[in-house]
Amino acid sequence: MARTLITGGAGFLGSHLCEYFLKKGHEVIAMDNLSTGSTDNIAHLRGESFSFIKHDVTDYIYIDGPVDYILHFASPASPIDYLEMPIQTLKVGSLGTHKALGLAKEKGARFLLASTSEVYGDPQIHPQPESYWGNVNPVGPRGVYDEAKRFAEAMTMAYHEYHGVETRIVRIFNTYGPRMRPNDGRAIPAFVPQALKGENITVFGDGLQTRSFCFVNDLVDGIYRLLMCDDVNPVNIGNPDERTILQLAEAITKICDSGSRVVHESLPVNDPKVRQPDIRRAIELLDWKPTVNLEDGLETTITWFKQRLGI
Ligand code: UDP
Repeated sequence: MARTLITGGAGFLGSHLCEYFLKKGHEVIAMDNLSTGSTDNIAHLRGESFSFIKHDVTDYIYIDGPVDYILHFASPASPIDYLEMPIQTLKVGSLGTHKALGLAKEKGARFLLASTSEVYGDPQIHPQPESYWGNVNPVGPRGVYDEAKRFAEAMTMAYHEYHGVETRIVRIFNTYGPRMRPNDGRAIPAFVPQALKGENITVFGDGLQTRSFCFVNDLVDGIYRLLMCDDVNPVNIGNPDERTILQLAEAITKICDSGSRVVHESLPVNDPKVRQPDIRRAIELLDWKPTVNLEDGLETTITWFKQRLGI
C-alpha cells in the first residue's frame, strides 16, 4: 500500500486530496497546523488508512516509516489570509517547502508542489502557458504569496536537479467547491453566502476582471494524473472557461434564486485583470480536461454552503 503525506491536509484542497488518495487505496497522513485548515474537513475520513498530525511544516518534519508520495499543499491561499499572515505565508512557501523536500529526499518519496497561477502575477500574456515567466510585483501585497510560490518552484527544481528527488509542480488556477471557508475572502465563498442571505454582492472594482473557475473534483483528478506521470516541468491545472466577476455574481444569484444586488467596492492592489489557463500541456501529457461546467459545480457548492450555514 502506497503511503502518502499531504501537507495542508485539513484545508480545502488538502481534504479533497486526502479523500481522493484514500479512494485510490493509499494510506494517507494529513499534516496541518490548522492556521486556515480545520479538522472538520477531515473528520469523516477517520479510519485505519488515515491519520492526522498537527504540525507546522516550517519546523523539522519527522515521519516514522516509509513515505512514497508527498503532496505539499500547506499555505494560506486566499488574499485575505495571506494579507493577515504575510510572514507565515512566506515561511511556509520557503522554509516549509525546504522541510518537505528534505523529507522526500530522506524517504526517497516522489514530491508534488502545489504552485499557483499567481506565479504569472498580473499577466501580460493571455491565456497563460507554462512557458510564461509572469509579471509579479515582489513588494506588493500579493508578493508574499506569489514570491513564496515562485521560490518554492525554484527550490523544488533544485532538489530534482541536485539531489535527484522525483518532483512534480502543479500550477493551480482558481478552484472552488464544498469545504471552502465561508468568507475566506475569495469571490465564490463571499458571493454564495451573500446571495443566500439576500445581502449585497460585493464586487471589487468594475467586475470586468476575469477568472476561470475549476471545480475541485476535476482539480484533484488532474493532480493525481500529474503525480503519476513522469514530467518534472510545471503543469497548469484549471478550467479555461473564463468569466468576468460580474458574470460570476450573476450566475450565483440566479442559481440561489436571490434578490441580492451587486455593489461595487474598491479593487485590491495588484488584482490581476485577466486569468485563464492554457491547458494544452495537461491535455497532451495527462489526457486530462475539466468535466464539470461552472453552473453544475456552483449548484453542488451552493447546496453545501446552505447546509454549512444552516439556510
Ligand atoms: N472579488 C470580488 N469580491 C469579493 C471577493 C473577490 O469582486 O468579495 C474579486 C477579486 O477582486 C478578484 C476576483 O474576484 O478580481 C477573484 O478573487 P479571488 O480572491 O477569489 O481570487 P484571486 O484574486 O486570487 O484570483
